[in-house]
Amino acid sequence: MADKLRSNEKMNKHSVTSLLEIVKKYRHSGKYSEAEALINEYKYLLQNSPELNFELANIYVGLDKIEKAVEIFEKLLQDRNFDIICTVNELIKLYNRKGEHSKAVDCINIAAEKNKYNFSLLIEKFIQQRLIPDGQSAFETLQNLKKIKNNESEMFVKNIESVEKSRQIIAPYRVFFTWGMHYKCNYSCTYCYAPKPHDITFDNNKNNRASYPATQQLIDSWKFVFDNYGMSRIRLDGGEPTVYPDFYVILKELLKMHRLQLNTNLSFDVQKFCDNADPKSVRVDASLHCEYTGLEDFVKKLEYLKKYGYKIVVSYVAYPDFINNIPMAKKIIQDEMNIPFLIHPYSGFYNDRQYPASYSEDEKNVIYNTDYKSITELTWRAERKGNYKRGEKSKDIKLKKYQIEENELAKQIKQIENKKDKKFKLCEMGRMYARIYPNGNVYRCCVYDGNTYLGNLFDKTIKLLEKAEKCYDIKDCRCWRCMIPGEESRWLNTWMDDWEISF
Ligand code: SF4
Ligand code: SF4
Repeated sequence: MADKLRSNEKMNKHSVTSLLEIVKKYRHSGKYSEAEALINEYKYLLQNSPELNFELANIYVGLDKIEKAVEIFEKLLQDRNFDIICTVNELIKLYNRKGEHSKAVDCINIAAEKNKYNFSLLIEKFIQQRLIPDGQSAFETLQNLKKIKNNESEMFVKNIESVEKSRQIIAPYRVFFTWGMHYKCNYSCTYCYAPKPHDITFDNNKNNRASYPATQQLIDSWKFVFDNYGMSRIRLDGGEPTVYPDFYVILKELLKMHRLQLNTNLSFDVQKFCDNADPKSVRVDASLHCEYTGLEDFVKKLEYLKKYGYKIVVSYVAYPDFINNIPMAKKIIQDEMNIPFLIHPYSGFYNDRQYPASYSEDEKNVIYNTDYKSITELTWRAERKGNYKRGEKSKDIKLKKYQIEENELAKQIKQIENKKDKKFKLCEMGRMYARIYPNGNVYRCCVYDGNTYLGNLFDKTIKLLEKAEKCYDIKDCRCWRCMIPGEESRWLNTWMDDWEISF
């Protein structure tokens, strides 16, 4: 083919057409290097042919030379005589690969100057703005989309506003569940805030006691969720999830349907875990509890999981007695093994002093120097949870059945009364997120157990909200991850890490 071209050495308009024809054939049959070499042979033709540049950029994409491809497409974007929509479409794909969603929005804006009512552009802009994340701008784009009256744009808006479809096409893409499987644990950490099955107050809350349904029933329940809400992300939480009966069977079956995040003390048999899990679909959030685990053993398990390709995050509670261990653990886990090491400030009492407000300056420095992001959590806890003390309210009294029912009723009555108050906000929780307790009861979020009830997982009565609804449980919600529409820039990226974005 190339010979045909070479025989036509006097290059003119016709030869550009011939060259294009040949390199396209090469590209479509996967011969990217040959196509590139041929264009290079006649590269002076690139000067006057945007079509040839467009083709070369596509060849670079095939060769995985993304930066070079982006450079050409970006130049083409300035060429007002060339098909700007085609160029933008290709650029968006590449920006998506690079995670540069702001640049995608910028290039859409350039194309939109000439194509103000091109609904495909507006749809793409909306999707990219949700990924930045820029909820307010996305909201404005959606309003502009609504002004375009044609079947396709109306269908898109309808899909966005309908719960099933929007979960597939806009971030955060899937429903997030936190499943507190049970509160049993093989450790008993001093600072643990999970309810303890041996506490006399344990049954004061009906959600605390695990139901332990038959394993097959449990798997069927998650299949029911999959059929109704698609692939979800489930955070397995506890207590310690890995000591749940039949844990590895449940793990293996759940991974056929959903993505998982395992919140664990890493006491489990890592080899058995790797035999039953898949690094592409489960992230391990390991907590280092130095009352029970030696750093050396813990690190060996991390190495094993890392070798298998698991994405791991390690966290550590900055309990005053254990702060001294932080620098060494950080050096090994974060600096040497390159695993994120997060610090959770301790919340509660220690030697009659309230934490986190009582951390010394030195202690704070150790915490910030290890995990600078912990400053947000530390400040947040210090400001808003200053008076928190576990067990203080219940005074270790076992409530009678009628008292528990009265408390339940009081919550429901409060909710009904709150509905008269117009100040409560819309929230996506309950639609995009739900918290499941050990007895299978599902609630809208985890701000406190007993807020809006959404059915039970185990008996398949779970029913998520169809759209963002006003939350009548709490007026000034303290949760920094709460999903208020229009405030995505605060919460969206806390739900979507790189692991989550890749399908
Ligand atoms: S490992 Fe976790 S759940 Fe178990 S006692 Fe410690 S903090 Fe609590
Ligand atoms: S506003 Fe807060 S309490 Fe209400 S549903 Fe959202 S996260 Fe939960």
